[in-house]
Amino acid sequence: MRKLLFLICLIFLSSSIFGQLENARRITRTLCSKEFYGRGYVNQGDSLAARFIGDEFQKIGLEKLKNNSYYQSFSNPVNTFPNAMTLVINQDTLIPGVDYLVDPNCGSSNVTWKYIQLTKEEIFDSEIQKRYISSVYKDALNISGVVIDIRGLKGDSLKRIRLEVIPGLSQQLDVLVLTDEKFNFSVGNEPFAYSLIYVKGNKFVSNASISTQIKSKYLISHLSTNVIGMVPAIPNKKRKEKDTKTIFITAHYDHLGMMGKDVYFPGANDNASGVAMLLELANYYKKNPINYNIVFVAFAGEEVGLLGSSYFVQYPWLPLEKIHFLVNLDIMGSGEEGITVVNATLHQEEFQKLKSLNEKGNWVDLIKPRGEAANSDHYWFSQRKVPAFFIYTMGPNKNYHDIYDTYDNLTFAKFENLFKLLSSFIADL
Ligand SMILES: [Zn+2]
Repeated sequence: MRKLLFLICLIFLSSSIFGQLENARRITRTLCSKEFYGRGYVNQGDSLAARFIGDEFQKIGLEKLKNNSYYQSFSNPVNTFPNAMTLVINQDTLIPGVDYLVDPNCGSSNVTWKYIQLTKEEIFDSEIQKRYISSVYKDALNISGVVIDIRGLKGDSLKRIRLEVIPGLSQQLDVLVLTDEKFNFSVGNEPFAYSLIYVKGNKFVSNASISTQIKSKYLISHLSTNVIGMVPAIPNKKRKEKDTKTIFITAHYDHLGMMGKDVYFPGANDNASGVAMLLELANYYKKNPINYNIVFVAFAGEEVGLLGSSYFVQYPWLPLEKIHFLVNLDIMGSGEEGITVVNATLHQEEFQKLKSLNEKGNWVDLIKPRGEAANSDHYWFSQRKVPAFFIYTMGPNKNYHDIYDTYDNLTFAKFENLFKLLSSFIADL
């Protein structure tokens, strides 16, 4: 009989964990499907994702904190690429995302190029740079663009070229940069006057013909939406409502959107997986409330510069001093090499708590402490003295901000273990 009970328990436990991972997979797969357009600014992909998350909140039964709504909207400028995009070099139509990437602040360019290829020496010659940046010179030479080869450049010189020379040139000419670096897309909101394109070095030969069809669209006032819901604390007659502490669990749901009509950035690890974890925790705490209110926030606009969280701390739906602790989640789909905790050095007591819980449960192989960093939505809360951790997983999947951050490339290696670690940590805060 005992054996049978044990077996039933085991089946129940494994089926519920299995169900949990299945649900997290469904959420991740949905959010990074083509129907959400990379959760960015083309075809309202981010708004579709916000609505999907709001519907999940509703299904779970989360409470609404304000205005009888889960949604907090704000507007922001953003540069987008909703139109067909082509880059042809010597009759070879290059593959966007694979052979080339436009800069997030890339402007429009619909032209067969007349260009000059700058030598490495010329790139560093400030007089020559000034000349090319001068529109008078550009007209005199009758050129519309320059090609720059940054392969082999490193350290400070590469930094200077990237941060000063290239943006300066892109305000006067079309710029094509030859590189062998991994492509890394992001979101821009200060578009250049001309196009700026990064091309894999082996796709170009000297004097090749170049033609482009790139049309960027600058949205002055794009509507973005944070999604906010709550599981209230267990009612307790002895504790006054105003004394009830609140824990925040947050994850950004936006990603990089599209680059041209056909290419989208799925953002599976970053951060469909974090939203999946947030929803799993919401599900769990709805069924197992604790002595804290738990507020769940799926932030918009993180990739444009932590905009959703910035807006929230300016217009919080509850006083920020009520937040006992905040846990921000990103990149939850790996974990083979452990997790990193940003702000670990700032909140050592909580960090030790997390570590000792992990030692007991043996859930992840490594918990790496990191200091303060302005690299996700926890940042604005930290700035306002709200205690916060930002937790992300580490692993062999290095697909980040590129077209390969897909659902199929996710392992979910430590997802369930991390769920156990996070839920026990939150209950213990
Ligand atoms: Zn992210």
